[in-house]
Amino acid sequence: MKVLVINCGSSSVKYQVFDMEDERVIAKGICEKIAVSEGSGHIKHTPQNGKPTFNEDIALPNHTVAIKKVLSLLGSEEYGVVANLSEIGAVGHRVLNGGPKYATSVVVTQEVIEDIKRFIPLGPLHNPHNLSGINACFEAMPGVAQVATFDTSFHATMPEHAFTYAIPYEYTQKHNIRRYGFHGTSHRYVSERAIEKLGGKPNSRVVTLHLGNGSSLAAIRDGKVIDTSMGLTPLEGVPMGTRSGSIDPAVVEFIADKEGFSVGEVLKVLNNESGIYGVSGVSSDFRDVEFVAGDQRSPNPDLAEQAADPELARRSKLALEIFYYNVAKIAASYIAVLGGADAIVFTAGLGENSPETRERIIAYLAAFGVTVNVEENAKRGEIEITGADSKVRVFVIPTNEELVIARDTNALV
Ligand code: ADP
Repeated sequence: MKVLVINCGSSSVKYQVFDMEDERVIAKGICEKIAVSEGSGHIKHTPQNGKPTFNEDIALPNHTVAIKKVLSLLGSEEYGVVANLSEIGAVGHRVLNGGPKYATSVVVTQEVIEDIKRFIPLGPLHNPHNLSGINACFEAMPGVAQVATFDTSFHATMPEHAFTYAIPYEYTQKHNIRRYGFHGTSHRYVSERAIEKLGGKPNSRVVTLHLGNGSSLAAIRDGKVIDTSMGLTPLEGVPMGTRSGSIDPAVVEFIADKEGFSVGEVLKVLNNESGIYGVSGVSSDFRDVEFVAGDQRSPNPDLAEQAADPELARRSKLALEIFYYNVAKIAASYIAVLGGADAIVFTAGLGENSPETRERIIAYLAAFGVTVNVEENAKRGEIEITGADSKVRVFVIPTNEELVIARDTNALV
């Protein structure tokens, strides 16, 4: 069976088509600028069978039109990868928040749709768009089974003491306020790979570090999450590209008072103008901040002026150190609650591509006997970077959330 995997954002639809016989990706692409303005829209569709890439502006007034266009590309003579669209037996959707209810992926029914709607307050920036994707597929491919894979599901095994906030308990109960955690599909994929590499060790203790634009960590015992750093929303945990991560909640009222902002406006600042962007004043992209901080590995002529400014260089160094330090602090607390660690796993944009980041974080964990092999750490792809004398194995495992969604979809359908 072929499975279409869809990740639907406010103005974009990312997709991949898998042939589940051998789990090969046979096409992938992205629709962008959906309903951004009158006539806006762009599709980049890349077949993996030698056919040409389709890369054109095309009016995409809504998600349904985008998905219908993708389907017509998938079945077309020139850009297609299936002889007949009926070969696509199911669609898997990435959905942000399944609330307290969904601990696994599920076939989408009317009840699931109602629940995704009900949990919109728990994922206001994503759940509505995830739902648009689902509705668009029901319209564009009637009769084809659809599956929802939630970013929160893998964290559903957390014990109550890890997911309950110490606020009045009636709020927890009345409003489902608790830690949900995100990036679950990624933590699941890389931890399963790591456990395979540990030879299926029983009671394995794994700490996964998903470090990208958004970053989160998870503590995983015997394949089950016991804690994770993101919370009710993706704002909690380590500082990120533009998010502050955990701060004293009193800061919210303080900024609101001093700057004349509403709570909502302060939260926008904490989500969009903070993190390494807010501290460095340079960029939310780690490569840019590394460069301005003095790292010459990926020189960027556009930032030459900033790099020559000693104050911006100092703030960029500070932003990066805050990041490494806070990631290491949470990793250390997870090693402690797991009673030690068998493996530490780095993944996502930064975790997979920045040897410096990995080295700096591991350096903070020396007290646990973790060291890194500098030569291996410079390599790319799925690698083991454990130092010769390290008590904990250290891996870099490129994440593959789409494959997990395709596998779950295939299994359920
Ligand atoms: P998202 O959370 O949007 O999926 P990614 O996981 O793709 O993000 O991560 C994007 C981040 O990874 C960016 O900040 C980017 O700078 C960083 N990154 C990618 N490659 C490198 C690299 N070679 N060195 C440092 N940072 C990198």
